[in-house]
Amino acid sequence: MASDKGPSAGDATLRRRIEPREFEVFFDPRELRKEACLLYEIKWGTSHRIWRNSGRNTANHVELNFIEKFTSERHFCPSVSCSITWFLSWSPCWECSKAIRGFLSQHPSVTLVIYVSRLFWHLDQQNRQGLRDLINSGVTVQIMRVPEYDHCWRNFVNYPPGEEDHWPRYPVVWMKLYALELHCIILSLPPCLKILRRCQNQLTLFRLTLQNCHYQMIPPHILLATGLIQLPVTWR
Ligand SMILES: [Zn+2]
Repeated sequence: MASDKGPSAGDATLRRRIEPREFEVFFDPRELRKEACLLYEIKWGTSHRIWRNSGRNTANHVELNFIEKFTSERHFCPSVSCSITWFLSWSPCWECSKAIRGFLSQHPSVTLVIYVSRLFWHLDQQNRQGLRDLINSGVTVQIMRVPEYDHCWRNFVNYPPGEEDHWPRYPVVWMKLYALELHCIILSLPPCLKILRRCQNQLTLFRLTLQNCHYQMIPPHILLATGLIQLPVTWR
């Protein structure tokens, strides 16, 4: 049930929450904003307490900033597990993917789940390979969907009173298109999603080009979920 208040004044996370406008533009799947934003959750061992905070790009990518801050501030006890969840506006580039794998190999008690709202330069083969390597090393990488946007809004955003349920309603088709493209990356298939920006009115457009290999390898429900694809009839 929606409350008529924003996050409570006594909420210890209040000062670490980001403003609604920031969330709206950073995490809009149609926005090709250069800067990246990271919202993260850390949970130690069997504790139910979750530490939440956010980060941005500086001279370094936001993922590298996280690793540097985390390793310098925390004392790792190998017997205590640590679960980290990231909500990233852009997926990691290949260099960050490599750094994340290095960080995780040095800290085997840490598990990482990454949700992303957009795929960063996803036509770049190095970035595609970087994501595959990350997934193959045990990191979960998924596209943010409605439940993740809702979760982030409630837990990371200083939303106005009464607006607890009102996360920005981005078009779901974008989430499904990125999920489809992530499948192509995982399966080492050629890209099928091209993102285009029309300069005059700043509209972001997409083009889907599916080849036979996509129809053969991608589970039909992923293709159909976009609502844009009709599967070819191969039998009579
Ligand atoms: Zn990076």
